[in-house]
Amino acid sequence: MEISIRQELEQIRERGLYRRTRLVQGGQSAWVEMDGTKVLLLCSNNYLGLADHPALIEASADAARRFGVSSGASRLVSGTMELHERLEAAVARFKQTEAALLFNSGYAANTGIISALAGRGDVIFSDRLNHASIIDGALLSGARLVRYPHNDHGALARLLEKERGNGRALIVTDGVFSMDGDIAPLRELVGLKAAHGALLMVDDAHGGGVLGEQGRGTAEMLGITEGIDILMGTFGKALGSYGAYAAVSQELRELLLNRARSFIFSTSLPPSVLAASLAALEVVQSPEGASRRDRLRRNSDLFRDSMRSAGFTLPDGTTQIVPIMTGQADTTMKFSEQLLAEGLYVQGIRPPTVPAGACRLRCTLMATHGDDDLAWAAERITAVGRCLGVI
Ligand SMILES: *Cc1c(COP(=O)(O)O)cnc(C)c1O
Repeated sequence: MEISIRQELEQIRERGLYRRTRLVQGGQSAWVEMDGTKVLLLCSNNYLGLADHPALIEASADAARRFGVSSGASRLVSGTMELHERLEAAVARFKQTEAALLFNSGYAANTGIISALAGRGDVIFSDRLNHASIIDGALLSGARLVRYPHNDHGALARLLEKERGNGRALIVTDGVFSMDGDIAPLRELVGLKAAHGALLMVDDAHGGGVLGEQGRGTAEMLGITEGIDILMGTFGKALGSYGAYAAVSQELRELLLNRARSFIFSTSLPPSVLAASLAALEVVQSPEGASRRDRLRRNSDLFRDSMRSAGFTLPDGTTQIVPIMTGQADTTMKFSEQLLAEGLYVQGIRPPTVPAGACRLRCTLMATHGDDDLAWAAERITAVGRCLGVI
């Protein structure tokens, strides 16, 4: 039976799953103005604080003055500019691959890459906690989707035995999981992909710029230099810009360029965004980048320790994503609303993003948080947590 739009909206509200946007005034820094009051941001992916970095702003403004504000067409028509090629070369150097191909966003990259590499008769093995854009890419591809238990390479090995099939097999995982902040067992996955003749794709949206000595990401941190066929990363998080890439072999780049529909049928990234991303890669690989990474790590450790010693339950993890488990959806939403009223913006996460009963406050740290900011945040979260009976 058909239901009206209004009824559908009511159902969303009744289930406690209604979503809305919140207006942030000014730039994206540690403190922002929201609805007229100053709040501390503890839910931004601007991990290194590059979104308002003067080098990125200057590069972006300069590119707009020199090349205009739009590429005017898709890459395969007249929308390939010098900056696209320069950024692809810079990405390939950064990720130490033969080549790279840009995409307009991480969402566009995942849907485009996965549906280009797999189709009918193929099988995609996907970690149960992978990002929604990976699932959407798999659904779009028409390949069979086999979801394996989170980070369980033993279970994946058994599934590969049983479900491998005769077509292509593609194993896909997040590098750093966006809702848990833990890290994929890439070494084991590289072993499995070799043993089963599969392709391996890693989405490092949350690891790029942050993890590893040079900020190259999860693979660098784990000491893996080979065996990952598609290193997907984004510019919108730690890199403070916008867009995404696949760092791949020359051959795979050629295939994606010919087959990935989100690449082919979409206007390419504009000059100002490309120039900001180029500047971001420079900052990330400079001593300043290293010191921002150190600061972020220190902030993450400090905050995680303070939440654990206050008595909160936190999943295992070592990254800048620090979830605080809160149980049910209503408690979680009350928790984040109360914090916001006190000047602390933390995102509450509920189903369908996480399983029912595993709701959480997803705190994300930035290099630009000061010691005082974090001490104050810990104190407020602890007070509200006690008040709501979470601890
Ligand atoms: C954010 C995110 C994406 C999407 O990237 P956008 O550039 O924001 O579209 C993809 N994968 C993961 C794991 C992400 O966290």
